[in-house]
Amino acid sequence: MIQLAARQRNEIGAHGERDYPYECCGLLLGSFSGNGGGKVCSEIYPISNAREEEAKRSRFLIRPEELMRGEKYAASKGFDIVGFYHSHPDHPAVPSAYDLDHAWPGYSYIIVAVKVGRAEDLLSWEMQPDRSRFKEDEILNVS
Ligand SMILES: [Zn+2]
Repeated sequence: MIQLAARQRNEIGAHGERDYPYECCGLLLGSFSGNGGGKVCSEIYPISNAREEEAKRSRFLIRPEELMRGEKYAASKGFDIVGFYHSHPDHPAVPSAYDLDHAWPGYSYIIVAVKVGRAEDLLSWEMQPDRSRFKEDEILNVS
């Protein structure tokens, strides 16, 4: 389970709309100590909109130097990286085979579907420990 405030949810949707028709991506910052062992997303850290035009055309992939910058920022605010988010322009908010190949267990993967420029479904996924597939992760919406 991941606790997500309306503000972060809206920011993820807005980022997906801004980067449409490209995929947006970023980090979910917060803690692993939510109620019942869930995660808390306290802040998002957008990555793709800091990229040059050419890089935006490539698929969702966070480069090591981008991840390190995000980790430094998270540490400065006392947060952990609890997951990642990205958008699926004109596709459902369901992980692709590519997403499965590039994921790690233990993190939350939030996907927002952006249909014709408008953010719609937003779902969270977690990889099974055996890495065979994702299962949907419950989102606890808070204000
Ligand atoms: Zn994807």
